[in-house]
Amino acid sequence: MKAVYPGSFDPFTNGHYDILVRGLEIFDEVFVGVANNPAKKHLFEMNDRIQLINESMKEWIGLKKRVQVHALKGLTVDFCKERECNVLLRGIRAVTDYEYEQAIAQINSELEPEIHTVCLFASKEHAFVSSSMIREIAAHGRDISKYVPGPVAKAIMEKFK
Ligand code: ADP
Repeated sequence: MKAVYPGSFDPFTNGHYDILVRGLEIFDEVFVGVANNPAKKHLFEMNDRIQLINESMKEWIGLKKRVQVHALKGLTVDFCKERECNVLLRGIRAVTDYEYEQAIAQINSELEPEIHTVCLFASKEHAFVSSSMIREIAAHGRDISKYVPGPVAKAIMEKFK
């Protein structure tokens, strides 16, 4: 079975990585959809975000061929339909994520009732990690390398050096 994992991934964190790898224990193949969130000011351009996920997931993309990363420009449900996929994978860190995830899941099921959202709870060691926290800490010159995959840490260091 295939799943789509949509998000803005700005940048891709160890929390995202954890959800994706755990998703791969359930699903055979996961399509990562990288979207622009109009409510957020982006640190990395779309192509850089895609490249950083590709580098962080190298083994799953190259050798195992179980992950693909694409730009998600329209509606998430259309991205799913284009790939003949009826599962959306999302992550929930805390109760603060719940309402947001529920609202998106409900809108998506209004649009396409046969597309189902599966939410995984964050692992406790990553539950406090968010892209916005990474952007904030990095902008103030602190080390973020333990919260993101190696290629992402390198790109952030380049950006803020
Ligand atoms: P969006 O802008 O669509 O919320 P994000 O890149 O912020 O995109 O997050 C994508 C998905 O990953 C969301 O479902 C979010 O709740 C989940 N997520 C983000 N960080 C973590 C984390 N540390 N642990 C588990 N899930 C996470």
